[in-house]
Amino acid sequence: MPLKVRRIENGTVLDHLPPGTAPLILDILNVDVERTTVLMAINVESSKMGRKDILKIEGKFLEEEEANRVALIAPNATVNIIRNYSVAEKFKVKPPERIEGIVRCPNPNCITNDEREPVEPVFIRESTDDLEYRCRYCERVIRAEQLRELLR
Ligand SMILES: [Zn+2]
Repeated sequence: MPLKVRRIENGTVLDHLPPGTAPLILDILNVDVERTTVLMAINVESSKMGRKDILKIEGKFLEEEEANRVALIAPNATVNIIRNYSVAEKFKVKPPERIEGIVRCPNPNCITNDEREPVEPVFIRESTDDLEYRCRYCERVIRAEQLRELLR
């Protein structure tokens, strides 16, 4: 029997997240969990993907650009914006063209890893076919599989 997670009145529902990724996704969305009500379902049954996570964030309406960060961890995630208990908007996440601040550069000599230099890491997407990003400062290329361990 599919698990029922209570509905929210206003906010954002992120669905079809790979099992176990919900806490990480809360992190990269900078959700202030001390001030926000979040319903989290981890490793529940899914007809589409076997198992999945679901996140319901009350009172937060994710912009598409913000939500696209989620694609780095959950490429098949769907986003529902809920207003007054019904779906007001629905979209799929797309990998962002640019990642700013949330992923650190794996190159220890990169200026973004120098503690004396307050430089925020910036990665630019290499191609539309592969999920590869290039550091704007040292040109190091990172692949999607590496992103999880490089999240700050
Ligand atoms: Zn770099």
